[in-house]
Amino acid sequence: MRIVKTITGLRKILSRNPGPVGFVPTMGYFHEGHLALMRRAKKENACCVASIFVNPLQFGPSEDLDLYPRDLERDQRLARSSGVDILFVPEVSEMYPAGEPFSFVDVKHITDSLCGSARPGHFRGVATVVAKLLHIVQPRAMYLGQKDAQQVAVLTRMVRELSFPVKVVVCSTVREADGLAMSSRNSRLTPSERLQAPALYQALSRARALCAAGERDAAKIIFKIKKLLLDATSATIEYVACVNVVDLQTVRRINGDVLIALAVRFPSARLIDNTLIKYADGKKAAK
Ligand code: AMP
Repeated sequence: MRIVKTITGLRKILSRNPGPVGFVPTMGYFHEGHLALMRRAKKENACCVASIFVNPLQFGPSEDLDLYPRDLERDQRLARSSGVDILFVPEVSEMYPAGEPFSFVDVKHITDSLCGSARPGHFRGVATVVAKLLHIVQPRAMYLGQKDAQQVAVLTRMVRELSFPVKVVVCSTVREADGLAMSSRNSRLTPSERLQAPALYQALSRARALCAAGERDAAKIIFKIKKLLLDATSATIEYVACVNVVDLQTVRRINGDVLIALAVRFPSARLIDNTLIKYADGKKAAK
């Protein structure tokens, strides 16, 4: 595995034509969710490139940029054993040599709701850095996790509307044994918060069961999820929403493919999770 810190260095290696590239953009502090993306990227392409970049553009002024967990040595070991051929680890000064850039990629409308409403500017930062990374790496395919469902929607739209020649591959959420979606931020939870955190998955599982039993009223499902979260955790609920998968608009009835997504704040970390209710599930439930 090559470790590359500069854009010029990476372009030079890639110009030697390593074959089709599968690309996994990350912020590091790897867990099994990241490694699953890397293994798949390696399996489906001649060359797997992963990046580690804690992107200041996607953190608000009061967010956890400085607290974001980092362990480059461990990440290098894990990336190597997961099939990564090239690990790109640029410094902030390499990606933004003139400080905050003048040029941004702004994906509108679908960035206003869900995580976007509590984190203004977050998805502009994500879209901008991923656009830049795609220009540098020029992969055949980019591998993203379903855990960050809004990010998937935003980047899929950006790729389509700006004609990036890249396939977006979405991989399932990898979970701990108790259901908690793996996240680098989980490491910041206190023991008590960690014990409460599986409630997110349990509430989403309960929502799935309600849909499968024929419940179509989104408000009732949201109410049930909120109650479960309030009963089982001390976290503050940021949002619980049922939205259309494509444009992330709120739905009142569970018909078609619907994303049920939530975010909560513990004092130590903000957690998100979601579940996708496929149209086929709805039809089954309606019988
Ligand atoms: P991050 O380092 O948190 O920016 O995540 C990098 C990539 O890994 C994104 O595409 C995430 O959606 C994906 N990812 C993060 N956590 C998980 C998980 N638990 N399961 C699957 N993919 C994940």
